[in-house]
This record gives sequence, C-alpha cells and structure tokens, in this order.
Amino acid sequence: MGTVSGPYTGGPSGPAGGQPGAVPGEQTGPTLGAPPQPGPQVVPADPHTHGPAESGTAPDQAGTTLLQGISQLVTNDPAVGEGPLGLIGDAAVVLDGDRVVWVGPRVSAPAADRALDLGQRAVLPGWVDSHSHLVFAGDRAAEFTARMAGRPYEAGGIGTTVAATRGVERTELLRLARLRVDEMVRGGTTTIETKTGYGLTVPDETTSAAVAAESGVDVVTFLGAHVVPPEFDGDPQGYLDLVCGPMLQAVARYVQFLDVFCEDGAFDGAQTRRVLAAGQRAGLGLKVHGNQLREGEGVRLAVEHGAVSVDHCTYLSDRDVDALAGSTTVATLLPACDLSTRQPPAPGRLLVDAGARIALASNCNPGSSYTSSMNLVVALGVLQCGLTAEEAVQAATTGGAAALRLPDVGFLAPGARADLHVLDAPSYEYLAYRVGMPLTRAVWRRGARVV
Ligand SMILES: [Zn+2]
Repeated sequence: MGTVSGPYTGGPSGPAGGQPGAVPGEQTGPTLGAPPQPGPQVVPADPHTHGPAESGTAPDQAGTTLLQGISQLVTNDPAVGEGPLGLIGDAAVVLDGDRVVWVGPRVSAPAADRALDLGQRAVLPGWVDSHSHLVFAGDRAAEFTARMAGRPYEAGGIGTTVAATRGVERTELLRLARLRVDEMVRGGTTTIETKTGYGLTVPDETTSAAVAAESGVDVVTFLGAHVVPPEFDGDPQGYLDLVCGPMLQAVARYVQFLDVFCEDGAFDGAQTRRVLAAGQRAGLGLKVHGNQLREGEGVRLAVEHGAVSVDHCTYLSDRDVDALAGSTTVATLLPACDLSTRQPPAPGRLLVDAGARIALASNCNPGSSYTSSMNLVVALGVLQCGLTAEEAVQAATTGGAAALRLPDVGFLAPGARADLHVLDAPSYEYLAYRVGMPLTRAVWRRGARVV
C-alpha cells in the first residue's frame, strides 16, 4: 500500500528502544506508507431510512487484514487488555470487512489474507465526535475577531449563519458538509454526529436534515430549537408551534435525535420542556445544549427527561453535578468551544470524581468552535478540564458512543466496527503531551483505509 515511509522513530518506545516487529527484514507485509488516493470516499446515504446514515466507506478488499507493529493498542475493553483502556503492548488487530474480528498480542495473531506493519505506533479506536454543526454556509471570522477584541459571545450570533445558510443551494450545502466530514475523518474521527439548526424554516430545516444524512455522518440530530429566527421575533411560542409540529414531522425521517438550546437568548426552561416533550412523542432520543454561558435549567431538564446527553456543562451548580452523577445522561464537554469563547473550561475533574459519565466532543460550528480536531479536544480535556489522558481518551471514544447510543463504536474488540486511528506516537499519552502536533498517521473507517 503506497510507498514505505518507515517506522515511528520519534521516542524512546520506538524501534530504537528495542521493540520487535518493525525492523526491516522482519516484516511480514507492507509497512504503513502513503494514504490511498484520492481522499476519503463518501457514499451518499439513503435519505429515506430512519436509522443511522449508512455513509462513509466500503472496505478496500475482500478477506482479512492483519495489522501489526502496534506499540500500544487501546481496546477500551478491560476484558482483553490491561486497565480501563484495555491496553495491549506489541499488539495486532485483524479486520474482516467493516468489523474487527481479532485483537491480542502479535505473537498470538492468527493468519490473515494480508498483513500491514504499522511501524511500532499506537492504535486507538477512531474518535467518536458526538456533537457538531456541519451543515452551514458562510463564516463568522469577523465575529470571532471582535470577540477576541473583548466583545462577549452571545447566542444571537447564530442568526448570521442562518441567513447565510438559507441563501445557498442544497448542492452547495452538501458540498460544504462533505468537506467538513472529510476534514474530521482526516483528523482521526470515524463516528460523527451533526445537527440541523441553521435553517429554522420547515423547508430549510428539511434540506439541512437531508443534507446531513447524505454528508457521510453517522447520526443526525434535529436542532430546530437553536434560536428564534428573526421572522418570529417576539413570538417564541409561535416559532415553537412550528418546531414541535410541522418542522419535526418533516425532518423525522432523517434524524435520530432532537436537541434544544436552553440558554438566555435561546429558549427558557418552559420552552425547553415543550420541545423535549415533542421529541419524546416523536420517539427521538433527546439532547440538550445546557449551562454554556451561565448556570441554568438545562442540565436538570435533560436529566429529568432522560436525555441521552447534555452538552456544554461549563457552568454547573452542586445540584447539577449531583443530578448528572445520579443519572444515565452523559455530560458532553466541549473544551474547544470554551477556549474559543474565552469561557472557563468545563469542570471535567469534578464530574468524573462525582461519578458522572462524560464525553468529549468538538462542537465544530462557525460561531463558537470552528475546529473539528478531536486530537486537540482530547488534549484540552487533559490540559484545561483536569482529566487524565486515560479519562480524556475514554471520553472521546466510549463516552461519545454512549452519548449517541451506538453499541459498536468507540472500542476495538471482536464485533466492533473497524474504525482505527493510528498515531505517529508510541502511546496515547502523546495526544496531550505533544499538543498541537500532527499525530494522526492513518485512519480506517468501516474497514476502509481513508488516511
Ligand atoms: Zn452545539
């Protein structure tokens, strides 16, 4: 597969440290080299299915593939490896089609139809980014610049993106969304949730949902209750009649979750309840944007309604932390957003110590967090939110999977989706230790090598 570009040599755990498996002449197959060309292929999903979009890629070749030369395999399965991350040193993985069929020590690996040596690099499950907003047009660089000059972030800036998104053709919106999906995959993200929320009319939200379902993401969320659009200024109830009625009905076939922005400048507690109740009636999973800019009702309403996640959680009261710890609702932290809006980091340490389940996600959107780098998000989870590297990796893999209720992603063991992230580093700790460095070396998504 492509040109040989050699083993990882950047640290003491590389081949120079004496680990076996990557010495030229000992390889049983090709060495990790250049990624396939052209870039990630995105197969359009069938927009008429109700389940997760069948998007992404098809496996490259029939038969099994043995990946070896893995200095450290993060399985996230304590039954197959050491500690909570289920670590296996000098490991191997066997893929068959879009599934993992075997993981374990290299010396015990079964025979496969082909083998590839990864040059003593760490392999993780692909990132599960459970919160993004990829379907939009335009940018808000000027707003960002003004914010850096001292203007505070406000929910109302979303209106700028709504106007730009309404102003472009569906084909352009799809092109932009696909570019953003490709960007995410190139950063090691293999499971992607994205939301509507920049259309805010029945036809524009329907287009956004259909575009999202076709864009190559795994999960689509309806966020009609993002802000009150200008044509309903002063009449939030009138807008919610639309959101909870015809708009929800029109998007339902494309989406798996419903989300609501519970915040000053967006929707208050009573309005949030109304939206969540409509989502429940429609049989959708529930999510809440809550407690981003100040303490509020978002977290408690999410827990009360059995929401699968409440996202942001930047400002939490003791009561909020207790409510999360005693619930199945995942607290999804968005530290790149906190950074970009100059908010304090979400209290990850406090939540984990209290026993709450957390996820880390990018919140990639043009206003408050225009990055989809989960490598950065994981580093910020450690450097800003007080998590250990182990906790941050879990939050960005199994945590994200829990926040999307996806049973077959976020871990690497037999039966898991063949989503792998190869780091140009010997271990996962390097993600925070070498923050900002280009550590994504190769990516498999649904069994196909895409980077
Ligand atoms: Zn968001």
